[in-house]
Amino acid sequence: MSKMKIHTGDQVKILSGKEAGKTGKVLRVDAEKRKVYIERLNMLKRHTKPNPKKNPQGGVIEREAPMDASNVMVVCPACGQATRVGYRLLEDGGKVRVCRRANCGKDIDKA
Ligand SMILES: [Zn+2]
Repeated sequence: MSKMKIHTGDQVKILSGKEAGKTGKVLRVDAEKRKVYIERLNMLKRHTKPNPKKNPQGGVIEREAPMDASNVMVVCPACGQATRVGYRLLEDGGKVRVCRRANCGKDIDKA
């Protein structure tokens, strides 16, 4: 289980770098390296030679490059703002992430 505060499927906001201020959906989380992959952001272009089987034309392939998890903030689905993440314990011992904004405080995850 990932201990990351950012989960696959989250909307996140980029805090710095060339994509700063943009928001996107998390495609994949690498908990070990503390990296996230965000849909259509931080794209990496790779020029490829023609390959008769997969890619006869050659050309440029784009894919998402990982970003540091510390460089993104979860966007709260309730208030729509980028927020730090807190936790709320459930009666069954589980926990859900909550928005830490003072005027919101709603659950980010479904309980
Ligand atoms: Zn909120």
